[in-house]
Amino acid sequence: MSVRPRMKELSDEERKSGFDEVEKGLALHQALPEASRCLFCHDAPCVSGCVAGIDVVGFIRRLKTRNFIGAARLAREANVFSAVCARVCPSEEQCERPCSSTNLAEPIAIGALHRFITDEELKRGIRPRQAGTPTGKKVAVIGAGPAGLTCAHELAAQGHEVTVYEAEDEPGGLMIYGIPRYRLPREVVNKEIEYALSPGVNVKTGVRVGKDISFDEIKKDYDAVFIGIGLGYRTQADIPGHDLPGALDAGEFLRLAALGEAPRLSGDVAVIGGGNVAMDAACTAIRAGADKVIVLYRRTEEEMPAWKREIEFARKEGVEFRYLVAPLRFVETDGKLAGIECVSTKLGEPDSSGRPRPEAVPGSEHVVDVSYAILATGQAPWPEAKEVFSGIELNPSGTVKVEPDTLATSVEGVFAGGDAVNGGKTVVQAVTDGKLAAKSINDFLSK
Ligand SMILES: Cc1cc2nc3c(=O)[nH]c(=O)nc-3n(C[C@H](O)[C@H](O)[C@H](O)COP(=O)(O)OP(=O)(O)OC[C@H]3O[C@@H](n4cnc5c(N)ncnc54)[C@H](O)[C@@H]3O)c2cc1C
Repeated sequence: MSVRPRMKELSDEERKSGFDEVEKGLALHQALPEASRCLFCHDAPCVSGCVAGIDVVGFIRRLKTRNFIGAARLAREANVFSAVCARVCPSEEQCERPCSSTNLAEPIAIGALHRFITDEELKRGIRPRQAGTPTGKKVAVIGAGPAGLTCAHELAAQGHEVTVYEAEDEPGGLMIYGIPRYRLPREVVNKEIEYALSPGVNVKTGVRVGKDISFDEIKKDYDAVFIGIGLGYRTQADIPGHDLPGALDAGEFLRLAALGEAPRLSGDVAVIGGGNVAMDAACTAIRAGADKVIVLYRRTEEEMPAWKREIEFARKEGVEFRYLVAPLRFVETDGKLAGIECVSTKLGEPDSSGRPRPEAVPGSEHVVDVSYAILATGQAPWPEAKEVFSGIELNPSGTVKVEPDTLATSVEGVFAGGDAVNGGKTVVQAVTDGKLAAKSINDFLSK
């Protein structure tokens, strides 16, 4: 039996009936003994597993002595979105993985302890950060996701005048418009956005750079620029019939759900894809009224890019998985989607991703009857980035090309980070990029 404490969760019925947070965090009587299991290793392998460099050993030591706020502040020094990351980081792949190399039978539940201290801090309120002594320099940040907001926060704390331009009506990026609320409640994100803006960051929401203001104007008005525009919401696959009523794009579906405007679903719903977005779309479809949700994936579970915890979460909610099956086209009845013509696949030689290539099995075509299909086959870089950010060199995939050590783009004084650069990773990676870019911008402005 596992010695690691488990968080309390909503019951099966409760979790499917709304968007309340499913995991409820550890109780004090669970957190303290778990902190006491930590060996406080002198080389702290857990810290090397956290890209943001949170002092894990330090916060667990403070937690153990019941200094919860001190523990939370230590974590926050390294990560502006500490409470968000405590909920959404794949900790078993990050800080907890190197912890397994210690003499412990099971790694410390670092993610759950991190969540415990950030919950304590949220209850009391996060202490705002002060602006630094004014430097007289102005910086524009394009995109208010975790990368842009972190960069803005750090620069304002250094005394620069920072203005964030955000296309949506609210700042937060995918923390608001992507990750579903049952995993990441809106109140948690809002409190951390407030903290991110606390050193006096200006935000202009509803302003899309390239439409409402040009990149050239921004470059002219500011001493440095950070681009943190993330990826486009739309997915890449172009399956015939994808514009039929009933065929939905996962990014758009999740965005509507975040706004409380998701279409009401009924009958059987297929989700096409095997990544985290597919898992979120599947669990959101259940909450939107689907009778049954089936994930269709063209390889096997072993090759699925979704994190194990996300797959388990979806399975717990009753999501069904069908492997080795690829969609060919959406089938129409009376002008509406009625099914998906699929072909069975088998695994062949590795492709460019290093995973075995799914090959169609001749003669295995069949129709999966569904009322709705949600396409979750990967986000792509904003197609308009080339025109909007003219002069900025892009990679062949459409992501922004940067110097890895500084996140400098091909245009002097312009830096970039987060999903727009890495093609789609994690909140903690976006935060880390935001910090590195802020340091590089500060160095650039101090020359
Ligand atoms: C459904 C889903 C679930 C996810 N789950 C997790 C998870 O559990 N854990 C995890 O760590 N990560 C998860 N991620 C990934 C994570 O959300 C992203 O890696 C992270 O948000 C990237 O941050 P960013 O700041 O680079 O971009 P974003 O969060 O995408 O923010 C970019 C911002 O830029 C704005 N913008 C774009 N173009 C313009 C423009 N021209 N002018 C002005 N503003 C503009 C956008 O509106 C957006 O607000 C998930 C992603 C999705 C889609």
